[in-house]
Amino acid sequence: MKKRRLKKSVKIFLICFPIVILLIILIIPKKEKVYMESFVGKAKEEIIEFCKLKECEVKFNYDYDINTDENKIIKQSKKTGSELKKNEIIEITISKGINYDIYKENNVNELGRVPIMMYHGIIDKKSEETSYTGGNVDKDGYQRTYEAFVEDLEFYYKNGYRMVRLIDYVNGKIDCELGKSPIVLTFDDGLANAIKVTGLDTNGEIMIDPHSAIGILESFKKKYPDYKVTATFFLNAGLFQQKEYNDKIIEWVIKNGYDIGNHTYSHADLTKTSEEGTIKEIGRMYNLLKSKTDKFVNIVALPYGTPYNANHQNFKHVLNGTYEGETYTTISALRVGWESDYSPFSTSFNPNFIKRIRAYDNNGQDFDIAYNFKFLETRRFISDGNPNTIVVKKENLQYVNGKNLKIIDY
Ligand SMILES: [Zn+2]
Repeated sequence: MKKRRLKKSVKIFLICFPIVILLIILIIPKKEKVYMESFVGKAKEEIIEFCKLKECEVKFNYDYDINTDENKIIKQSKKTGSELKKNEIIEITISKGINYDIYKENNVNELGRVPIMMYHGIIDKKSEETSYTGGNVDKDGYQRTYEAFVEDLEFYYKNGYRMVRLIDYVNGKIDCELGKSPIVLTFDDGLANAIKVTGLDTNGEIMIDPHSAIGILESFKKKYPDYKVTATFFLNAGLFQQKEYNDKIIEWVIKNGYDIGNHTYSHADLTKTSEEGTIKEIGRMYNLLKSKTDKFVNIVALPYGTPYNANHQNFKHVLNGTYEGETYTTISALRVGWESDYSPFSTSFNPNFIKRIRAYDNNGQDFDIAYNFKFLETRRFISDGNPNTIVVKKENLQYVNGKNLKIIDY
């Protein structure tokens, strides 16, 4: 009898025990898990309140941020949704807003002018070997000595200019270090001395004469990596005038950060062609470029700088047309001479009709290099170092064409 009772109580115990445990688990208040929330963009007070409530600690850092208003949170060390331990330290970065001081210190002016340099041939000569002024090789200074070109590049660099691609300038993509000014290099006529190929190496790669334009540019690429060496070459039917190497040259220049554009098929004066003839000159050259690469730029350098006036009957055919079934659109036509052009963010900027500076010497007169860069000293584009923002002086705000970028005035 006793044994039976014992057996019964064991049975009861075995049934009740798990129920009691389960009840204990259910009844005893559980310690709630705490998870991190997102505070980016929120006010400092919100994270303070949160940490008070969730028993964590907060440590503040401060930084400038153009995209986050002053006193709003830029960054949190703890990932949103991750579990927070008691007394854990969270590092929070608070925005100090825009650093207007660096704009003032660097005199940032993204409405300033940009020099677009127009070169033709680079002749392998010392400047004293010519009978013309400075580094000119001909009377008008269209051809420049090797020595003068090297000096030009040193001069631009030392005066705080950094190269940008012509197409980027046109599109308002100015990626230039804080306090530096953009400069654009162009070369017309597709001369062999733009990139003189001396042969092929054992890998079948072109070997470039170091005294040709690209040879010199490549040496500057090594000398000053922050120079961001680039240039745009405007070609005619002869391309780079090296039949056996033209295709390899085009491939090489594009691969190495240079651009090629349209200088008409036969270097025509577009005030002397018919309207149909104009379409042929532009369209045929585009078709030739297209047959070589899909990476040329839709920019035309006008031979002789003509027409001088964008109202000329042929000018519209420079911009748009169809030749042999292929339709083209030109985003910019480049003129010849004489001065720097507007910032791409200026309401005065006309991407269709861009001015260039003839890169020549004339004792600081008649819009030569010295003349133009002296003029630019007080008017040049000075970058804020951020391609996504346009920083201008307060008084110039009304002249900004924002191109969907953030505009900051100071
Ligand atoms: Zn030309």
